[in-house]
Amino acid sequence: MTATSTDRTSGQYWHDRAASVRPETRLFIGGRFVEASSGGRFRTVNPATRQVLAEVAQGTAKDVDLAVAAARKAFRGGSWSRIKPRARMDVLYKAARLIEQHADDLSLLDCMDMGKPISEMIGIDLPATVLTFQFFAETIDKIEGAVTNTGPSALHLITREPLGVVGCVVPWNYPLLMTAWKVAPALAAGNSVVLKPAEQSPLSALLLAKLLAEAGVPEGVFNVVNGHGEDAGRALGLHMDVDKIAFTGSTEVGKLMMVYAGQSNMKRVSTECGGKSPQIILRDVGNLDTAVEYAVNGIFGNQGEVCCAGSRLLVHETLADDFVERFRAKAAESFRPGDPLDPSTTMGPLVTEEQQKRVLGYIESGKSDGAKLVLGGAVPVGLDRGFYVAPTLFAGVKSSMKIAREEIFGPVGAVIPFRDPAEATRIANDTIYGLAASIWTSDLTTAHKLARDVEAGIVWVNCYDHGDMTMPFGGYKQSGQGRDKCFEAVLANTQTKSIWIHLGN
Ligand code: NAD
Repeated sequence: MTATSTDRTSGQYWHDRAASVRPETRLFIGGRFVEASSGGRFRTVNPATRQVLAEVAQGTAKDVDLAVAAARKAFRGGSWSRIKPRARMDVLYKAARLIEQHADDLSLLDCMDMGKPISEMIGIDLPATVLTFQFFAETIDKIEGAVTNTGPSALHLITREPLGVVGCVVPWNYPLLMTAWKVAPALAAGNSVVLKPAEQSPLSALLLAKLLAEAGVPEGVFNVVNGHGEDAGRALGLHMDVDKIAFTGSTEVGKLMMVYAGQSNMKRVSTECGGKSPQIILRDVGNLDTAVEYAVNGIFGNQGEVCCAGSRLLVHETLADDFVERFRAKAAESFRPGDPLDPSTTMGPLVTEEQQKRVLGYIESGKSDGAKLVLGGAVPVGLDRGFYVAPTLFAGVKSSMKIAREEIFGPVGAVIPFRDPAEATRIANDTIYGLAASIWTSDLTTAHKLARDVEAGIVWVNCYDHGDMTMPFGGYKQSGQGRDKCFEAVLANTQTKSIWIHLGN
């Protein structure tokens, strides 16, 4: 890629680069870029312009077979699974450095593929991806077994071994980062990987494949098969020689992955799925402006296409009107939909026309169910060239309404008033999901009580979306059963082996 402008803070710089992007579009199998065995291709579209960005090789079950065979061969060969921990660490550290060096190219690909503002890619997704590879590199020589306290006639060792071939199936909302959350711990543990990116955002994974190879990941250890979920994704889920599916995506498909495992070889399945996370703003909230700011970011960041979006705003009834007024002002100041390649843009289009229609459909349902539309609610004026939806807020929402029950996955917040903490807890838990929640209060006892009672994998107190790599990221209930990030994630890519040595009497 060449660029004429060198000022990374200017839209011109990113447009120049975008004009010269020639992304890799083939599959990556056995250390080589190859065409799909059927010769098929599918289009990926820039959601900001509706223009075709690339035609990508469309992998099918046959390509999944080839990738799994390459992965298994590499695993058995030991070029990655059996090397010294330090050697594997060096490669993943180098991968992190290469990702950092190619920050602009990787950012551009995700920005153009799924509509995320370039400023978010550069400021959030990229550094988080680099950190993910660094963190899991660091875990490698910390994976330990145990010697248990047996009687004198035996020595019992419990060792941890990699699983074998891990299939990673990921969504489009953070294409590179969600890939890193799955792939880095699987590789760190010594597995081989077959990655199936989302068909809406297939490009950055191919550049990642190139960088991992350059970093020294041996051939066959990391493979990418782009293709459709019901075809390539299903084939990976049903494959008899895949030991684990690490899945991030919708609850519906997460359940299918568990069915596939039952129908095939009982492979392990970890799922990170949808959410409908509550932000509970109590009457004794310390600083309402701070809570409002987090609430706005929690639902409008990444166009609301965030699994842990704080989409249900549970606000004490005495604060609700004030909250809505401040929310509208803050949203207008902070989120301006526009060209994702312009670094001043804070909100891009939704990923596809289908997603845009889905979100607009939820807005109609909110109106017809009697919720009060107080912000947005339509395609922003002048932006009908892309799949945009304006930042939207409903007030006076009841927990029984569809907009309070279903994951919208778009920039639509719902203010639900409550009377007391007990009612807030009941509403917060009145959902099939349980990914995240937040509690805003100045009372320590209330914070602890609610944090204990809210059914969610992550509870933030007086903040939202904070954390670091040590924080297990995953849900309760139908938000899934896996945990990304954290040391537990690398262990979930291993299995224990008991070695019982009889020492005589
Ligand atoms: P999705 O479930 O439609 O797709 C996810 C992946 O599954 C894609 O790669 C897709 O091709 C594949 N897939 C689709 N149908 C399949 C099938 N029948 N068999 C096998 N594979 C199939 O989800 P999405 O629309 O890409 O992503 C949005 C969802 O992801 C939201 O529900 C969001 O909450 C969730 N998500 C969760 C987390 C988390 O950590 N909990 C993080 C990001 C996104």
